[in-house]
Amino acid sequence: MKNLWTPWRMAYIRENNQQEKKCLFEAGAEKKQEKESLLLYRDPLTVVFLNRFPYANGHLLLAPSRHIGDINDLLPEEGGALFDMIRKSVAILKKHNDPDGFNIGLNLGTIAGAGYPDHLHFHVVPRWEGDHNFMAVLAEVRTIPEHIENTFDLLLPDFQELFSKHK
Ligand SMILES: [Zn+2]
Repeated sequence: MKNLWTPWRMAYIRENNQQEKKCLFEAGAEKKQEKESLLLYRDPLTVVFLNRFPYANGHLLLAPSRHIGDINDLLPEEGGALFDMIRKSVAILKKHNDPDGFNIGLNLGTIAGAGYPDHLHFHVVPRWEGDHNFMAVLAEVRTIPEHIENTFDLLLPDFQELFSKHK
């Protein structure tokens, strides 16, 4: 179980050795959606990114908009909004990717595999029957660049719609 969310970690470490580390979730904080950073959605409480180092196609990262690392620092409305966004993300991924199931998880602390330990975030990962073994995961990491932009374009309108559905 300890390796559940860590397959992309090497790519993550490689990238971060080449550039100064900054918090993914605040980069471009004034933007609501942005393809370059794979930002699908941002409102005052919640942000949603497509993971650049996905475990599966459509792998999302959901975080509170506020920079907090401790789950006990989450305010009730932040926790509520985050859970609501998990539900909506599952609905959007079901519509486009027709997965057989989902892994939804939270890594607290570097020891648990958190790529960004200072900013709490959930992973929402669609799963298909027989979808991965170790090699498939490696292959996925190598082939993402094009693939991930297509997925972004596919999901973006549905997240866009969330802005108009409710405040
Ligand atoms: Zn942050």
